[in-house]
Amino acid sequence: MAKNFSGSSVLNDDYYIDTDSSEEKDKAENGTQTRFLKCGKGKSSKITFKYIGKGIGQIAPKEKPKRKQLLVMDWKKFHRLSVIYSFLDHLEKDFPAICTVSVIGKSVEGRDIKMLKISNSNASNAAVWLDAAIHSREWISTAVVTYLADFIARNFQDLSNSVTNKDWYIVPVLNPDGYEYTHTRDRMWRKNRARRDGACVGVDLNRNFSCGWGNNGEEGSSDNPNSVFYRGPEPFSEPESSAVRDTILSSATAFKVFLSFHSYFELIIFPWGYKTDPCPHYLDLLEGASIMARAIYESSGIVYKVGCTKDLTYYACGTSIDWSYAIAKIPYSYMVELRSKKYRFKLPKDQIEETCVEIWNAVKSLMDYVDQP
Ligand SMILES: [Zn+2]
Repeated sequence: MAKNFSGSSVLNDDYYIDTDSSEEKDKAENGTQTRFLKCGKGKSSKITFKYIGKGIGQIAPKEKPKRKQLLVMDWKKFHRLSVIYSFLDHLEKDFPAICTVSVIGKSVEGRDIKMLKISNSNASNAAVWLDAAIHSREWISTAVVTYLADFIARNFQDLSNSVTNKDWYIVPVLNPDGYEYTHTRDRMWRKNRARRDGACVGVDLNRNFSCGWGNNGEEGSSDNPNSVFYRGPEPFSEPESSAVRDTILSSATAFKVFLSFHSYFELIIFPWGYKTDPCPHYLDLLEGASIMARAIYESSGIVYKVGCTKDLTYYACGTSIDWSYAIAKIPYSYMVELRSKKYRFKLPKDQIEETCVEIWNAVKSLMDYVDQP
C-alpha cells in the first residue's frame, strides 16, 4: 500500500496560482479587480484594487497578506495545466538531486510540453516512459501520472530497487492545447488543436504514430478531419507525437517500459492494434499485464481486463504503443485504460485517489516483473 500519502502536495513558499476565473468574478461582483503581485523574494500576495474613475488606484490591502501555506496541487480534484506545470517545477526545486524538468516540444498552439525525469543517475538504469492526456478529455490519466511522479520523488529513498534503478520519464499532459480546451470550452474534446485551412480540426494523436499508420482504412483511424479518429495528413505530422518520438529515440538510456495512460475502459492492452496477429512477445506482455491487473484487484477490487488492443477493443492504427514496441523496441509497451466504465470520462473526483493508489501498485508490480532474470 502507499506509504506516507498525505493526499496533497503543499507548495510552501512562493507560489500562488489563480486556477479559476475568480478575477472576473471579483470584478463583476465587487467592482474590484484581483491581481497577483510579486514581492520580496519571489513571494506573491493577493492585493485588492478598486476602480477609481478611468484608472486603477491602489488602496490599502483588504487584509495583511498571510504567510500561510498555499495548497495548489492535490489529488482531490482535477487541475488546470498551470497547476500541473508549477507542481513539476516545485518537485524539481524540492528534490534537485533526482528531479529534472525539461520542455520536450511545443504544442500546435505553442504551449510547452513539459517532462519530469526522476533518476539517481546510475548508468546501469533502464528507462520507463509514462504519459497521460494524449487524449485531452481523459483527465484521470494526468491525475494518476502526477501522483506517481509525486510519490516516487518524495519516497525515493524508501522504495525498492526495481523502482529506483529506473530513469522515469514522465509527461503528464502530452496534449496541452486539448487539455486546456477541455477545461475552458468543450469537456469532450479528444484530439489536439491542429488547424486546417484556417479552421481547427484536430488530429487524434494516438493515430498519428508511424507503425501501421493508415492501415485498415476507416476501421483503424480516419482520413476525415471531422472524425474523432482523424490520423492527420502523414505519420508524425503533429508536434506532440513528434516530441515523444524525438525524446525516446534520442535517449542514451534504453527504455524497458512504455506506459500510456487513457480512460475509461478499465483495460491493460498491448500490441498489436493495427493487425490481428499476436505480437512476438505476446506471452510476456500478457503476463506483465496480468500482474498489473492482479495488483489493481488486490488494491481496490476493480477488475481490469488484459489482452492485445485488437482483441479487447478494435483496430487502432498508428498508436503510440505499436510504435514504441515495434520501432523504439521498448519490450513492455502498454496502454492502460483507467476508470471508469460507469462514469466514462467524467470520473467523480472522490475516486481520484483510489485510482492513483491502485495504479501505483500496478506499476510497482510491473517494475518487479520486468527486472526478473
Ligand atoms: Zn484515450
